[in-house]
Amino acid sequence: MADRVYLDWNATTPLRAEARAAIAAALELVGNPSSIHAEGRAARGMVEQARAAVAAAIGAEARSVVFTSGGTEANTLALMPGLRIGSQPAERLVISAIEHASVLAGGRFASEHIDTVRVTREGVVDLDHLRSLLAGRPPALVSVMLANNETGALQPVTDIGGIVHAAGGVLHVDAVQAFGKIPFNFNDLGTDLVSLSAHKIGGPKGVGALVLGANLAGLAPLLRGGGQELGRRAGTENVAGIAGFGAAVAAAIPAMAADMSRIEKLRNRLETGLRQTQGSEGGIVIAESAPRLANTTLFAVPGLRAETAVIGFDLAGIAVSSGSACSSGKVRSSHVLEAMGFGPELAQSAIRISLGWSSSETDIDRCLEAWRKLAGNLTKRDHETELERF
Ligand code: PLP
Repeated sequence: MADRVYLDWNATTPLRAEARAAIAAALELVGNPSSIHAEGRAARGMVEQARAAVAAAIGAEARSVVFTSGGTEANTLALMPGLRIGSQPAERLVISAIEHASVLAGGRFASEHIDTVRVTREGVVDLDHLRSLLAGRPPALVSVMLANNETGALQPVTDIGGIVHAAGGVLHVDAVQAFGKIPFNFNDLGTDLVSLSAHKIGGPKGVGALVLGANLAGLAPLLRGGGQELGRRAGTENVAGIAGFGAAVAAAIPAMAADMSRIEKLRNRLETGLRQTQGSEGGIVIAESAPRLANTTLFAVPGLRAETAVIGFDLAGIAVSSGSACSSGKVRSSHVLEAMGFGPELAQSAIRISLGWSSSETDIDRCLEAWRKLAGNLTKRDHETELERF
């Protein structure tokens, strides 16, 4: 689409040229990766090359990578009762209140076996609350994201790993938003399972991975059938998708440091401009003082209907998203903002602007220009707002 400005990279990213080329090459292969003839071995080679690239990107063993249909499936596969590191299986689940819907759904745990950890006003997991939920109780599987998709707030996962393991539990980390935006190493994180998704780093949609720690036991497949993925995920592999994922990872990780430092400058330019426009109207950058992803701004303006603003931006040629989740045409306020203590008025007024490797100063300036035109019309002049109460 000509002349559009895409600033919704946390929703999905454009396909990298390297991924497109790998997908095209994989689509030419006829073999099934499980077949032992030359055609099969060629397809197997592509899958294993991608597995090695994904594993290397986070310092994991290649055999610990299980390819899935995306982050949602990786999270669902991870969230199962009976996982264990030591002798005692984790029969209950503890999740943070700001997790992605695919974690909030609880995987294979019954809802009565799920507890939720609070977050602070900056959208960071409350470690004391986590300790209190684990103390004196049977071991739990704990699931916490590395970076939040709405606010970008980074979670203290290494500290969480220490707390969880001291209580005999297992830690799952949804790293879907963090992957390719901050460097991390599977072992240094102190986690037992990590979820990844290709389409957030320039790979195709519909492919991801669950990465398993060497000491983890008790994982049962979601999909049963053939013995693919070492019996952990049945079904003929999505060879083209997996090849695209591997190529995207191989391109994204070496470029990450330079990309993110450039993107952070653009994001700061954006936030300065948003504040200047808002001026006395009010408006806040959510989780501003938390450690955050360099590419994400969640901006809330009391009185604004985020959905209306997103449509206004769209008409001006700019793709952004509302902080609130919008699925199947239903607009809900953001569970993340509500968990952070914001009331519904503010939780429905947040716009998420997220940047990526091809974002430019021109993109930011066009976004700010659109915002200047929209802002006055869309926000209430009334300053009796929830923001003042917050
Ligand atoms: N986890 C997080 C934090 C996400 O942001 C997303 C997607 O937005 C997912 C999981 C789901 O990943 P996928 O779209 O690959 O199913």
